[in-house]
Amino acid sequence: MTRRRQIYEGKAKILYEGPEPGTIIQYFKDDATAFNAQKKGTISGKGVLNNRISEHLFTLLGGIGIPTHFIRRLNMREQLVRQVEIIPIEVVIRNVVAGSLAKRFGLEDGTTLPRTIIEYYYKDDALNDPMVTDEHIAAFGWATQEEMHDIADMAIRVNDFMAGLFAGVGIKLVDFKLEFGRLYDGEFSRVILADEISPDGCRLWDMKSGDKLDKDRFRLDLGGEVEAYQEVARRLGLMAEDESAVLDLDEHRKARGK
Ligand code: UDP
Repeated sequence: MTRRRQIYEGKAKILYEGPEPGTIIQYFKDDATAFNAQKKGTISGKGVLNNRISEHLFTLLGGIGIPTHFIRRLNMREQLVRQVEIIPIEVVIRNVVAGSLAKRFGLEDGTTLPRTIIEYYYKDDALNDPMVTDEHIAAFGWATQEEMHDIADMAIRVNDFMAGLFAGVGIKLVDFKLEFGRLYDGEFSRVILADEISPDGCRLWDMKSGDKLDKDRFRLDLGGEVEAYQEVARRLGLMAEDESAVLDLDEHRKARGK
C-alpha cells in the first residue's frame, strides 16, 4: 500500500490527500475528547459508526438540495469528500435546552425552546472556542455577510430535516454542531456543508426513556458509548440484525493490517 500524504490530524479525524485534485479522504478515528480536549479516551468502533452515520445524513441532506462536501464512502473508516476551505466557525443549532446553554442562563435541561436558536463559536482551542456574533464574524473577516446568510439558511433547513428524521425513529434532536467550508470555482466560491454529522456533535435523546444516545455518555462518564452510537445507527436502518457484525469486520481488517 502506498503511503498517502496526511494533511491534518484533528481530535476525531485524520485528513489525507485524495486521489484527485480537490478531493480529501476523511479517516474517522476512535479517539474521543471533551471539554476542549482536557478529557481524552477511545470509544472502540466509534469511527466506523460515525463514518456510516455521517454518510447517511449527508446523502439525505444532499437529496433535499443542501450542498455538501460528501462524495462517497470508501471503506469502514474513510470517506472521500471535496476539499474546501473550512470557515472557522462552529454553528450550533438548538431545539431544547442542554449543555452550555443551560449553564450560561441557568435554565433547566430538557426545556423545549420556544424557537430554534443558532449560535456561533470561533474555532480556536487556545481561546476555548469563544461564542461570537455576526458582528465579530464580519469585523474579523471570518466570513462575509452573504456567506453567513447562506449558512444560517442551510442550518435551519438541516435542522428541520434532521429533527423530523430523528423524531421518526423516536429520537429527539436536542442540539447539534455544523461546520461549513468554501468550495472554490475559479475566483468564485460558495459555501457548502462540511465536516461530519454524528453523535459526536449532536445531542440525541431517546424520546421514551430520555436516554442520551450521543457523546454526553463519554463527557458525563455514563458508559455504554458504543452501544448508544450503535442504537442511533440501528434506528437509522444502518445496522444488520447482528449488531456487532460491522464492528467485528473492521477489527478483523485492522488485525490483518489492511
Ligand atoms: N459541540 C461540538 N463541538 C464543540 C462544542 C459543541 O460538536 O466543540 C456540539 C455538542 O455536541 C452539542 C452542541 O454542539 O450537541 C452544543 O454544545 P454546547 O454548547 O452545549 O457545549 P458542551 O455542553 O458540549 O460543552
